[in-house]
Amino acid sequence: MQISDSISVIKGVGEKTAACFYKLGVESVKDLLEYYPATYDSFEEPVCMTEAFQRSGQIISVRGILVGKVFMKKVRNLTITTCKVRDESGAISLTFFNMPYVRNMIKEGQWYVFKGTLLPNGSGFKMEQPGVFNVLEYEKLVQSLQPRYHLTKGISNKTIAKCCRQVLDTLPVINDYLPDNLKAKYGLCSLKEAIWGIHFPTDEDELKRAATRLVFDEFLFFLCRLKIAQESENRENSCPMIPVADCRRLIEGLPFRLTEDQINVWNMIEADMSSDCIMNRLIQGDVGSGKTIIAILGLLMAVANGYQGAMMAPTEVLARQHYESIREITDRYGLPFRPVLLIGSLTAKNKREAKLGIEAGTYNLVIGTHALVQGDVKFDRLGLVVCDEQHKFGVNQRETLMNKGINPHVMVMSATPIPRTLAVVLYGNVQVCVIKTMPSERKPIKNAVVDVTYRPKAYEFILKQVRMGHQAYVICPLVEAGEMENVENAVDYARKLSGIFPEEVRVGLLHGQIKADKKEQVMSAFADRNIDVLVSTTVIEVGINVPNATVMLIENAERFGLAQLHQLRGRVGRGEALSYCIFINGNNKNKDNERLEILKKSNDGFEIAAEDLKLRGPGDLFGIRQSGEMNFRLADVFRDASILMMAKEASENIDITELGDKEKWERLLL
Ligand code: ADP
Ligand code: MG
Repeated sequence: MQISDSISVIKGVGEKTAACFYKLGVESVKDLLEYYPATYDSFEEPVCMTEAFQRSGQIISVRGILVGKVFMKKVRNLTITTCKVRDESGAISLTFFNMPYVRNMIKEGQWYVFKGTLLPNGSGFKMEQPGVFNVLEYEKLVQSLQPRYHLTKGISNKTIAKCCRQVLDTLPVINDYLPDNLKAKYGLCSLKEAIWGIHFPTDEDELKRAATRLVFDEFLFFLCRLKIAQESENRENSCPMIPVADCRRLIEGLPFRLTEDQINVWNMIEADMSSDCIMNRLIQGDVGSGKTIIAILGLLMAVANGYQGAMMAPTEVLARQHYESIREITDRYGLPFRPVLLIGSLTAKNKREAKLGIEAGTYNLVIGTHALVQGDVKFDRLGLVVCDEQHKFGVNQRETLMNKGINPHVMVMSATPIPRTLAVVLYGNVQVCVIKTMPSERKPIKNAVVDVTYRPKAYEFILKQVRMGHQAYVICPLVEAGEMENVENAVDYARKLSGIFPEEVRVGLLHGQIKADKKEQVMSAFADRNIDVLVSTTVIEVGINVPNATVMLIENAERFGLAQLHQLRGRVGRGEALSYCIFINGNNKNKDNERLEILKKSNDGFEIAAEDLKLRGPGDLFGIRQSGEMNFRLADVFRDASILMMAKEASENIDITELGDKEKWERLLL
């Protein structure tokens, strides 16, 4: 078996299973090894009965001997199997529903471990549907953590774990690309240990060691790529510009006054682009703080100076929105923009026309998606590149776009609050500026943290808002059923809501497994008010602006990181009307409530991220994988800040040619 082999070389993986793996994005053996568990199950030492009795209502494991017979009765079409187990200190009864085979599984006088929720039963206790384990088998489980992978219909956790184990057992040596002295210096384990440890850790310590190594690698490779890019960087201002009257005119003509922070940031950008050095600026501002207008001003300055500008957005809907609003102000204020939209869904003819016009300089402003970075897009005189929602792009995409000009100015915008020190590490040679204050007329969003019993009220509230002509988002963590219990999925939820709401309420569905063009269609339909309630996974998170949406309902809010919830919430509260965000805590643990309450108290993304970090103990290793900043798999720039600093130091002292390319690490595994 080779690391680059297709997943179907694994024994037992037929066509059907392979198709399921594809759905999960796992196509090769390497993909499988990098398909890290979402979480881990742990099995605690079994307790004795008296101790168990102290923990009524909790999931526990008890050791007991089966006493007396196993009884079975039928009530209508339900088979109920009952029995009694005890140890020296007490006894409980067990009930199984529709599991008649239990009778042949357990024998009188034998010891077992039973795992389940302990419930009061008259004067005693009982367990319903407990897991039954042979004592030795259970002991083995206690000494390990069991991986739990994200699933999709048709594939079980057991299958994925089995495949992983098979691969790890059959793969020849896993060759490590990190030099030994580096590993020793930072106390990192070997790559082989790390891959084993992330899938099949024996305990928390091993898991932590494995994760640390893999996170370190992710950061290190990222930083090395950045270093290579920077070494070839020319900092001279090759696109000199001067401040222009058009910008002043636009600022004065706007229907609103720029906030003080917006003015400051704009002044900095104006100064940057007219200085001796090329601009590389990161503009951070919370969702809704008004970053777009700053970008437009920058583009206007570039265009008025005779350059072309390019603005890249992560989705077609967002690109289209930017394009429309720029066209609108171009007409209204008589601005020198000659804009064109370049997105994947244009007809071939329109695309060709756009590209020709860009190359000839007929268009001086290009707004688009990553379609902009394709090889055949050539600019005449590119002077400024703007990346909206920077964190959704890879560094490579930004660089490819930059290379389409001769060293153009760069402005990237992000709503992810990263401390300045971290930003410099992550983005390299970048000037960071922040828009802190929100436009003053903005009404704060009303927040509620509730449990699942509140749902009917929430639906009623949504209906009321829809009848007032507004729209609503409903966010579910999962795409479809079958992945995890008690976690809502968008597909079923949309179906359910269509049934609950009267017919005139149009319910839409959006998730990552929908094809790209269909996804764009749904988002446009929502933006155009042809959908009233949009049930979605977090794909909606990216910058879409639908000011008419006034409610956001988030199911299983406990499963999301606070920073992500804050981003999601930023989709509402963008218009005149008062907006509402309802966080449903699906498991009702106090710890989660406490965390979610932070969102009620604060509307400041920086503060929220900091509080979130404080509450996430190191034990929550995989609790939250954060908003996908830089698309790291495991790494989280907040939680893993100390590893990031280690990787930074290592990247400065390392000879990159020694490392090999992460993309090609399969070559390094013999
Ligand atoms: P984001 O920073 O999330 O990209 P946008 O730039 O999309 O936010 O701005 C959100 C909304 O706020 C837009 O409708 C924009 O026109 C409006 N806006 C921007 N600046 C101001 C301001 N100074 N006063 C009032 N409204 C503003
Ligand atoms: Mg934006």
